[in-house]
Amino acid sequence: MSTAIHKVVIIGSGPAGLTAAVYAARANLSPLLLEGEPSSTSDQPGGQLMLTTDVENYPGFPEGIMGPDLMGRFREQAIRFGTDVRTEKVSRVDFSNRPFGIWVDDPTTAEPTYRAESIIVSTGAQSLLLGVDREAELIGHGVSTCATCDGFFFREHDIAVAGGGDSALEEALFLTKFARSVTVIHRRDELRASKIMQDRAFANDKIRFLWNHVVHSLEGGTSLTGINVRDVKTDAVTPLAVTGLFVAIGHKPNTDLFKGQLEMEDSGYLLTGLGKGATSTNIEGVFACGDVQDHVYRQAITAAGSGCMAAIDAERWLEAQH
Ligand code: NAP
Repeated sequence: MSTAIHKVVIIGSGPAGLTAAVYAARANLSPLLLEGEPSSTSDQPGGQLMLTTDVENYPGFPEGIMGPDLMGRFREQAIRFGTDVRTEKVSRVDFSNRPFGIWVDDPTTAEPTYRAESIIVSTGAQSLLLGVDREAELIGHGVSTCATCDGFFFREHDIAVAGGGDSALEEALFLTKFARSVTVIHRRDELRASKIMQDRAFANDKIRFLWNHVVHSLEGGTSLTGINVRDVKTDAVTPLAVTGLFVAIGHKPNTDLFKGQLEMEDSGYLLTGLGKGATSTNIEGVFACGDVQDHVYRQAITAAGSGCMAAIDAERWLEAQH
């Protein structure tokens, strides 16, 4: 039996993918959206917002909304207009033949599970985590990977930021608007961040640096009440009285599936704007939106905006083909 050919298949179900689905569905393209499987934090259907609590900066929700509720609404809206949402994880893609091939489960079968005339890639990115016990569980309860999203909840708190790059200092500087103090915990005695960010951080009297230290363990029941830090030179473990920990040790875009097929930066972020339309990739008919191609803004609203752009780009491209 030959595989049915879909007009648009969307891979990934964060704000970018689900917005692309709403637009593609309303353009009568009957999109198929493969949302991933809830097997780990990286494949989380709904994306990174599923790991946060209150979202207060998404326009249209003046009272704020819980991250998972917001993504539930995105999903409901996509389905309402006819998106076929499937809880499946893509294991392989083939963009070298048209219609494109997409496999779920067993990637070794000759025939792909789905075929598509066009594809929208919205597989997102994941924040790197430190790997200490209970870290993922406490995200949204004292541990955060996004100062822009969660800084507001730490008014007059003493908090810490782990990392020594530009992200860590950017987060630390932003957090000084709310927190009483911000301790930057860095595993070396020299920052990786750019000179200008270092100068700004050193000049801010709310920021202090804990050099040659790493986060050893987290304290607290349902929310973070403190952390323990380890001196990497002496191995001594000491408590640090903070109620918030921002992990800013980098992000990883979810692009392993596309290596060798889609052009990407050395860091793995997909390159877009390579053909017609801002979301085009190097392969005609394959578009990318959201955090998988954006390491600068990384907000739900910007991801949603680029999802809309990808659906419009795909629609126009399909129209030009027929
Ligand atoms: P990054 O430059 O890779 O820095 C990651 C930092 O986290 C490093 O200091 C690293 O320590 C530390 N780290 C990594 N793994 C760790 C672990 N397991 N435990 C403790 N510490 C760990 O990542 P980034 O700061 O996210 O920046 C990524 C890129 O975006 C960079 O090119 C950056 O310049 C750019 N960016 C620019 C801006 C800006 O210009 N405003 C803002 C944000 C990001 P080591 O130093 O010891 O390796």
